Amino acid sequence: MARPIVADIDLDALRRNYSLAQTLAPNSQAIAVIKADAYGHGAVACAKALSHQAPAFAVASLEEARALREAAIRQPILLLEGIFEPMELAEVESLGLWQVVHSDWQIEALMAYRPAAPMTVWLKLDSGMHRLGFAPSAFAARWHRLKAAKERVRDLHLISHFASADHLDSPQFAAQWQAIDTLRQSLGASICVANSPATLIRPPTRAAWNRPGIMLYGSNPLQGNLPDSIELAPVMTLRSRLIAVQSLSAGQPVGYGGRWRSARPTRIGVVAAGYGDGYDRHAADGTPVLVDGRRCPLVGRVSMDMLTVDISDLPDAGVGSEVTLWGDGLPVDEVAAHCDTIGYTLLTGVLPRVPRRYQGQR
Ligand SMILES: *Cc1c(COP(=O)(O)O)cnc(C)c1O
Repeated sequence: MARPIVADIDLDALRRNYSLAQTLAPNSQAIAVIKADAYGHGAVACAKALSHQAPAFAVASLEEARALREAAIRQPILLLEGIFEPMELAEVESLGLWQVVHSDWQIEALMAYRPAAPMTVWLKLDSGMHRLGFAPSAFAARWHRLKAAKERVRDLHLISHFASADHLDSPQFAAQWQAIDTLRQSLGASICVANSPATLIRPPTRAAWNRPGIMLYGSNPLQGNLPDSIELAPVMTLRSRLIAVQSLSAGQPVGYGGRWRSARPTRIGVVAAGYGDGYDRHAADGTPVLVDGRRCPLVGRVSMDMLTVDISDLPDAGVGSEVTLWGDGLPVDEVAAHCDTIGYTLLTGVLPRVPRRYQGQR
């Protein structure tokens, strides 16, 4: 039998989560963010699954966009950071991509390029995150310059990104939204600003376009619980099995460095999953794991290919028992909290050696 770890990807859950994003913002077009291999879920499979619903996709690089085109994905694809060097413009054009423009060098590259037909450009406003984009005071001049470049730019939109849309009382969010709204009104711009947290809890930001990412995969990006009316379905369930069981007396160390020691006679289950698969080595003792559908605590350090759980309270568990590391019945966000991280990093961190098994392919 093969090594038992697998990431089950439920494409019906993906479609339901996408529909929820649409229902929350019925007057918006939701660009499905499928960068980083669809947050570890497989970009081509996810794009195909959403191809009847999503009007456009967003990725982080030309390479990611090219892979989608090679898989016959026909929707517009937005490059969230635009080009990384001027020579990429030719392929942006030939693949029919949409580009973010966040820096003057990108504007100059565009002005020096002669497309056969004008392109779609998303001009990035730095509304206060101070990562990419033009400051509010510098934005209008770039906007008007691109508007006037009619042989190069057909559609021009305003795009911006929130640093703290994920908790409701954020003054930073309020300041960012005000900067965006002011420019939107003065320029009459169509805007795209809502990421998942904003799509979930910031109705005013649900504009002509939205950009949900993590919520499509069923992870809650909010600090705190989702509103009662909103339910996200986990898309990835990371599964494996017990491959060995150890019966230890009290006082025995388990794993590298002996971080954890048995306080009583203990049965340890050894799971075929480790940081070499993308399971976080920071997982603390007590991180929940499901064995035969029941919770038990991870104990001892995560190894590259294995991790260990205390199954003393599960007398029926043994070699071959089914293990769920996250997903169905165990939210990835809960596991992430025990690893001092967020669901995003666990999902995107599942490594290529873990086979993806798709359900709901049509
Ligand atoms: C990744 C990303 C998104 C999606 O964010 P989520 O929090 O996953 O919804 C939206 N916009 C930009 C610019 C991004 O980089």
